[in-house]
Amino acid sequence: NVISPKTTTDQNYEWACQRGARLEHFNKKFTVDLELLQTHAEFCNEMHSQSRALAFRRASCVLKTLLFPLTHIKQLDGVKYIGGHVRKVISDLLDLGSSPEVEEIKFSDWFRKMKLFTSIFGVGPATAKSWIEKGWKSIEDVRNAGHPSKDWRIVWGLAFHEDLTTPVSRQEADRFMDILQCEAQNILPGTIITLTGGFRRGKSNGHDIDILITHPTDGAELGILSKLLDVLDKKDIILSGQRMKNTFSTEALNEESRSMHGKFDHFEKWFGICKFPKAFQHPTTPSGCQSSKEDSTEVKDNKNSSTHSDPLGLPFMETQLTRNSNNLSVPLVSVKTDLKHRSNVKNKSYISNTCVYEGEGEPHVPSTKKFKHEDCSEKEVVEMARPQTDWLARRVDLIVTPYSQYYYALVGWTGSKHFNRDTRLYAQQVLNLRLTSHGLYDMKKQEALQATCEEDVFRHLNLTYRDPMDRNC
Ligand code: ATP
Ligand code: MN
Ligand code: MN
Repeated sequence: NVISPKTTTDQNYEWACQRGARLEHFNKKFTVDLELLQTHAEFCNEMHSQSRALAFRRASCVLKTLLFPLTHIKQLDGVKYIGGHVRKVISDLLDLGSSPEVEEIKFSDWFRKMKLFTSIFGVGPATAKSWIEKGWKSIEDVRNAGHPSKDWRIVWGLAFHEDLTTPVSRQEADRFMDILQCEAQNILPGTIITLTGGFRRGKSNGHDIDILITHPTDGAELGILSKLLDVLDKKDIILSGQRMKNTFSTEALNEESRSMHGKFDHFEKWFGICKFPKAFQHPTTPSGCQSSKEDSTEVKDNKNSSTHSDPLGLPFMETQLTRNSNNLSVPLVSVKTDLKHRSNVKNKSYISNTCVYEGEGEPHVPSTKKFKHEDCSEKEVVEMARPQTDWLARRVDLIVTPYSQYYYALVGWTGSKHFNRDTRLYAQQVLNLRLTSHGLYDMKKQEALQATCEEDVFRHLNLTYRDPMDRNC
């Protein structure tokens, strides 16, 4: 009496990017445990642990596309990526209500400590392992040992561990976006600020806030990050952070293509920790951003039919994005440009952060000022983290992209991480194209495929367009 599954053709596709996956589905009970096994395998540093981790994730992604809750193991006959190991775990969950293998890991001391230590900003599996070997069992143990690392992320991550492991709500992300949006318009009208990461995929909370910054005029975005950071610092919103230069180059791309490395992109960015007033958790508090009259008028004029606006009367970043992503009249773009021309802005050298302008355009001298937090001693950091009543420390990633790379950056920074990995592998293996957050490249022809909306990216990849909500693989 096996119930015949209601199938969609979706689950038969080989690649997760061909199937899509939503946050809500019928088989959480199974996917949660499979993803725990994935995390465990990622922690291990054995011969085949990384491919085992990938196998668990792929199985989990397939289960997310089933349109019914699994009730019998036979329902998985012929379903892709369900190997013997996964089948055993699922059988146990169906028959016993829990998987002995999962339960053993879940309650093992080593796994608990690995989870705990890797929850600290800047701590990866290798550092976590070295701490376990020292006999440390808790955050307090690490703190008491003193000077566990010179890495600023770990110093701050450890001091603010409680705040940083309290989930960031969408409400807080929106409040921060309001400020950033407003300040960015003051600095450079027309700047596009987009909330990406898990929030863009529909999550109601996350571990950080990922924000993409661009401007419709390629090259105009140079220098905006340092100005934004200066404003945030003046408003006492910044606790600590690290700015990275744009390191994008044809050479780097070629190099990565050969080695198939390059998990990270080359955008100018800032990874940091901000100070969020607790009032951010309430929607009505004014953000305190004063935009100049002309600016706000100009922005209002640009406002389209989008229904939501923020308390300041400024349009949300989605206004522009929705317009772009729904604009079906956008021509199918397959303009190929020479990879060597990284920017179509004349005479501008493309090294963001140092913001070198050669020839045309207004020169911008980057802020060389060091933020005070950069010189904080460990003791001062710990003092700052003493129980606060009116604010919380929050992780923020700010990424700057030239508009010519924006839609690829948007796909890359929207994720999920597995969606990216799968799509990039698919591009490589099926189309022999290299997909990154900077573009889609035909390495043989040394050509880049241009995208003027997210749909273009999917079209170039010969994939059905997936809404961000459907990229929760
Ligand atoms: P959470 O809600 O927990 O923050 P998330 O999906 O937003 O989850 P992040 O780690 O914040 O996860 O990453 C957001 C997206 O940006 C992911 O798709 C990830 O692949 C991508 N990403 C993260 N860090 C980098 C990086 N250093 N370089 C390039 N892409 C990155
Ligand atoms: Mn995130
Ligand atoms: Mn992030």
